[in-house]
Amino acid sequence: RAKNAGKNRFEFFTSSMTETAMRRMELESQLRQALERQEFLLYYQPQADLKTGQLIGLEVLLRWQHPKLGVISPGEFIPILEETGLIVPIGEWILKTACQQTTQWSELGLPQLRIAVNLSARQFDRQDLGQVVGSILAETGFDPQQLELELTESIFIEASQNTLDILNEFRRMGIRLAVDDFGTGYSSLSYLRRFPVTAVKIDQSFVFSVTNDPDAAALVRSIISMAHELRLNVIAEGVETEAQLEFLAQHRCDEIQGFHLSKPLPAESCLAWMKSFTEKTSS
Ligand code: C2E
Ligand code: MG
Ligand code: MG
Ligand code: MG
Repeated sequence: RAKNAGKNRFEFFTSSMTETAMRRMELESQLRQALERQEFLLYYQPQADLKTGQLIGLEVLLRWQHPKLGVISPGEFIPILEETGLIVPIGEWILKTACQQTTQWSELGLPQLRIAVNLSARQFDRQDLGQVVGSILAETGFDPQQLELELTESIFIEASQNTLDILNEFRRMGIRLAVDDFGTGYSSLSYLRRFPVTAVKIDQSFVFSVTNDPDAAALVRSIISMAHELRLNVIAEGVETEAQLEFLAQHRCDEIQGFHLSKPLPAESCLAWMKSFTEKTSS
């Protein structure tokens, strides 16, 4: 009896493993064709200055819309893009498309907004990442000062001399560098000294708890004051409520991003949102 139950559990386990493996293989093979089939699109999430309430930037977030599989979340497909190296050509497409899109918006009379683009560690495998980014900016006429690259912990952990050279090259071009998901890593503090970063982005897990967990509140306060002492800009991500916003304002966080302001929006809706938001805030 017990033996049988154990056997059944084992079979259940293996068949669910197979399902996971099959899903993964399916996604990988579909991802290899997704760029060519134009299944990727970009969403834009507004970022605002906490003091003035002005719109100052947009984070660019990749979406994959498959005709049969539907919308697949970045949490599921980005790791596959990274493992397969597909993130390298797709990462170039993301930067180029976002630069073109926002340049078009500024030609409509909207202010030239800063864009924040996420980079994966894998993209630093290209020794010439600096030149690749530089030529996309030149080609699209996008101002390097208005580009912020968001870097996650893995980039700093794996950092070779080559990575450091590329980051310094970005800074020489005037590009800003933000540490994404700040506070979740193991040695986040040491990155700030060793790498030429210009901003930290407080992880949403801390922001989420800031009003009901004194420890999260203490962490957020210390991150803000430490970052300011290092002359770094501080942005909080995942701001959903008025109470979180008030806490952040009270402790002099510089910028916010989150559902409280807007969820990530496809290009057309983002344009409409920006028009109505800038009308509201300028009147
Ligand atoms: P991330 O860069 O930390 O992006 C923030 C994530 O939080 C986004 O999830 C965004 O939709 C979500 N978010 C924003 N505001 C709120 C809020 O108020 N509440 C909550 N609960 N969530 C909020 P998303 O778009 O699913 O992206 C997940 C992750 O996938 C990103 O985390 C980033 O690491 C990665 N990713 C997304 N797009 C790209 C890309 O173009 N390139 C690379 N390399 N990675 C990307
Ligand atoms: Mg990000
Ligand atoms: Mg983040
Ligand atoms: Mg995150």
